[in-house]
Amino acid sequence: MALIVQKFGGTSVANPEKIKAVADKVVDYHRLGNQMVIVLSAMAGETNRFIELAAQVQEFPDAREMDVILSSGEQVTVALCAMAIKEDGVDAVSLLGDQVKIRTDTSHTRARIEDIDTELIKKHLKDGKIVVVAGFQGVTDYNDITTLGRGGSDTTAVALAAALQADKCEIFTDVEGVYTTDPNIHSGARKIDRISYDEMLELASLGAKVLDIRSVSFAKRYNVPVHVRSTFTDKEGTWVVEEEKEMESMLVSGVTYNKNEARITISKVPDTPGIASKIFTPISNAEIIVDMIIQNTRAGALTDMTFTVPRLDYDRAMEVVKKVADDVGAERVDGSREITKVSVVGVGMRNHSGIATTIFQVLAREGINISMISTSEIKVSCVIDEKYTELAVRALHDAFALDKDNVTDDSHE
Ligand code: ADP
Ligand code: ASP
Ligand code: MG
Repeated sequence: MALIVQKFGGTSVANPEKIKAVADKVVDYHRLGNQMVIVLSAMAGETNRFIELAAQVQEFPDAREMDVILSSGEQVTVALCAMAIKEDGVDAVSLLGDQVKIRTDTSHTRARIEDIDTELIKKHLKDGKIVVVAGFQGVTDYNDITTLGRGGSDTTAVALAAALQADKCEIFTDVEGVYTTDPNIHSGARKIDRISYDEMLELASLGAKVLDIRSVSFAKRYNVPVHVRSTFTDKEGTWVVEEEKEMESMLVSGVTYNKNEARITISKVPDTPGIASKIFTPISNAEIIVDMIIQNTRAGALTDMTFTVPRLDYDRAMEVVKKVADDVGAERVDGSREITKVSVVGVGMRNHSGIATTIFQVLAREGINISMISTSEIKVSCVIDEKYTELAVRALHDAFALDKDNVTDDSHE
């Protein structure tokens, strides 16, 4: 008998019919003799609807109250699913984050899980019930409801699997696994059978939203095997596991894009010691996360500073930066929301040079201007104009022949 945690995303529970189909599937696993813990998202579109509702009432919605609204979508689906399971003749119980005691810190709308009490879940499992847990939510020590940030149900599922020492965690979604790029923007995307935690961390952090990055961190830390697969077929999906020998031979594992960032440039800043700290401390004090930073050198004692912030924080960041620019005597601040960060990722890149050159050549051939570049051991990212996203992703995917198994060869060296 195995203990299995299965998570179903928003499109898998989008309406009562789909919820009934999820219940039937889960009941089949239960009848095979498995103990089942199910984690659900809100119905597709609900979380966005809540955000829009709140925005109609408060310009910058109160984060605590926001979490009270946001957590309600998952409350609906878990109750409906528990009802559907009971209709199938198996006992079930729905549990919200605070009932389980998924304890988080107090960072509303992006809380971190600190601890999970497994006692209640274990008791219900022992009684032969299927336990249906609301994803994406937790509770603070002060009994306030929190949410974990967009896509957070994946994290609930993997964290529960770790806490319960489950045999596996299955993430059911609307695609058949993790692909070499988003299959919804490139039909040539290929499903990856097995991928290492590290590569998946990199893909997720750079925009592959098929798995929430924090879920991958939990999986890696507690060595939880994660199986990403489709709700709508029985096909084997992608296993996210520890790095295996043969994975090293993959040069590039995927191409990602991230449209969640915005660019800000401060021009003609006095180039003196301490200037970076003067600019970035107030931004960090406003709890805005800066990702890429570029500082240019100009002739003379002036410099330009360009960096990216989350798109959702753009207006707030601009307010802070304009004030700082005045304080330090910079000439101008400008920025753009319409940017995309396109990245090429692969552990095989560690041992190969020339990948970046290939990327620059491909983008140049397509007439796409690069405004920022950043590299690490296993990725190269370029910021481009948002309107070229699909073109760039497809061109890079094809340049590295990702539709086929790409093993390292010397042509890129
Ligand atoms: P869920 O609601 O089930 O959590 P998400 O929308 O969060 O589903 O994640 C699934 C989506 O992730 C897919 O529909 C796909 O468009 C997108 N996606 C982005 N990059 C990838 C990738 N590399 N592989 C698979 N899907 C990807
Ligand atoms: N419902 C939440 C969201 O849309 C959490 C999730 O689906 O994982 O982000
Ligand atoms: Mg998701």
